[in-house]
Amino acid sequence: MDLPYFFVDSHAHIDTARFDEDREAVIQAALAGGVTRMVDPGCDLPSSRAALALARAYPGTIFAGVGVHPHDATTYTEEVEIALREMAQEPEVVAIGEFGLDYFRMLSPRDVQREVFCAHLQLAREYNLPCIIHVRDAHEDVMELLRAHGHNLRGVFHCFSGNVAQAEECLAFDGFLLSFAGPLTKQGNALPDVARMVPLDRVLVETDSPYLVPKPQRAKRNEPLFVKHVAEKLAELQGMMLEEIASITSANAVRLFGLGEIDETV
Ligand SMILES: [Zn+2]
Repeated sequence: MDLPYFFVDSHAHIDTARFDEDREAVIQAALAGGVTRMVDPGCDLPSSRAALALARAYPGTIFAGVGVHPHDATTYTEEVEIALREMAQEPEVVAIGEFGLDYFRMLSPRDVQREVFCAHLQLAREYNLPCIIHVRDAHEDVMELLRAHGHNLRGVFHCFSGNVAQAEECLAFDGFLLSFAGPLTKQGNALPDVARMVPLDRVLVETDSPYLVPKPQRAKRNEPLFVKHVAEKLAELQGMMLEEIASITSANAVRLFGLGEIDETV
């Protein structure tokens, strides 16, 4: 199949057990549908290792992030940091993350989350990698920590879920982009307004597979192929063609993460 454009799923947990049965088929379906690059962010040490292994198995198609999710912040030990540092130097690792603050579920204490957040910023700085940041009910603290420790860093606020004012605060950090996932396709949030205002050079699309299935999909499990539905919604809100949004968001992802040459046919 020759497509004049392709998609990047900038955030997909392809390493998780929910893909153990049919991972190869899921990846091939994405490729056949024009989703030619995927970033798999680790959530803890084992999944960071698994993401790197997948990136090695699918060079040029899957790329890895390494980091510890705020839910698992209490697992961030010195040994874990040493292992993350080793992996951060591998060419298949294109980001530090996902990491962040999640005060909604609060599965790790707030002070531990904040400390581990700052440790990740330090890794991103040392290895010159973009940050993949998870934020839930913690916007103010993330802004505070980035203002204090995030100078000259770059990255993405993944699965952005805030309002226009919060989006503006996020975009005030020059090197940072907003990424939309399945919630953009759902009712009852401020995301359509955010999607209309976000500058086109500051936006990514993602699935956050296997979570957050976008409409109109009815599957129980999300997968990288479905990133098209998010892109379609973004195109509709921006008043653009799907092809244009695909090209723009893919170029943004390639630029942010350093995913290789843009020009290709599937
Ligand atoms: Zn995620």
